[in-house]
Amino acid sequence: MMRLPAFTYLAPRALDEAARMLADHGLSAMAVAGETDLYPNMKRRQFEPKVLVGLRGLRELQGVRGNERDGLTIGAGTVLRDLTAHPLAAAWFPVLGRAAELISNPQIRHMGTVGGNLLVDTRCNYYNMPYWWRKSISFCMKKDGNVCWVAPGGSKCWAISSSDLATVVIALDAKVRARAAEQVLIGQKLDGGVIDAAADAAFKPAKPLDNTDLTLRYRKQMVRVYVGRALKELAGIHAEEPPSHI
Ligand SMILES: Cc1cc2nc3c(=O)[nH]c(=O)nc-3n(C[C@H](O)[C@H](O)[C@H](O)COP(=O)(O)OP(=O)(O)OC[C@H]3O[C@@H](n4cnc5c(N)ncnc54)[C@H](O)[C@@H]3O)c2cc1C
Ligand code: SF4
Repeated sequence: MMRLPAFTYLAPRALDEAARMLADHGLSAMAVAGETDLYPNMKRRQFEPKVLVGLRGLRELQGVRGNERDGLTIGAGTVLRDLTAHPLAAAWFPVLGRAAELISNPQIRHMGTVGGNLLVDTRCNYYNMPYWWRKSISFCMKKDGNVCWVAPGGSKCWAISSSDLATVVIALDAKVRARAAEQVLIGQKLDGGVIDAAADAAFKPAKPLDNTDLTLRYRKQMVRVYVGRALKELAGIHAEEPPSHI
């Protein structure tokens, strides 16, 4: 069994108190909210904070507010479950609720927060391992080592974000575009043939990395499947329920 290392837990009652605690303890402190990502990472010694500042009780970080003109403000401490059915999110950005609803299982959605999901640690087969396993390969440059086992000649970490909400937030800001698939869709009625062609156009240039769950080939194939499912859902065409994917 992997155990948590010793640490001091601070429970601020207000946001400014939390900010002061984090500032006072500098790099030896970390924030913690729903505890679903940070605690397992601490058990594997991927993070070794001496002080944790608990944000769970802070009402200022809770809730979704806004209006149609100014957009939504989503409190970082809002639990994923509360985003899934929030009427404001459902009215203006239904994709946010839909993405939150597809995250993992009810337990994680009940505990995990929006802020924690956006800042969830990256995943990699050489890194999400117990301390002794990482030690047996002399660690990697993300923590305690010098080399990246995914690209040994390189100078950067290729670990992958597993945050479904981050993907959606980036997409809403249109920073990432699947241009070939866009070209297939522009001016077309969303029917089965157009959807298949767009899914294929998204699949072809996709280059998943080979350092996370399942095989590279499978994950590339799934680009076609997930793009097709998303477009079918948008068009109101029945699509089978996607599986939870972590
Ligand atoms: C079994 C399992 C399956 C999962 N499946 C999925 C999945 O399918 N899709 C997906 O997207 N995610 C998945 N996750 C990730 C999950 O969504 C995150 O663990 C969760 O959202 C993290 O939220 P938390 O509040 O528990 O964060 P914590 O564990 O409390 O913190 C995570 C990180 O965020 C930082 N942090 C948290 N809140 C704040 C804040 N307000 N300000 C500054 N820093 C902050 C912490 O310091 C820490 O670095 C899965 C996790 C598990 C354990
Ligand atoms: S991508 Fe490389 S440096 Fe990053 S976690 Fe994986 S092995 Fe380590």
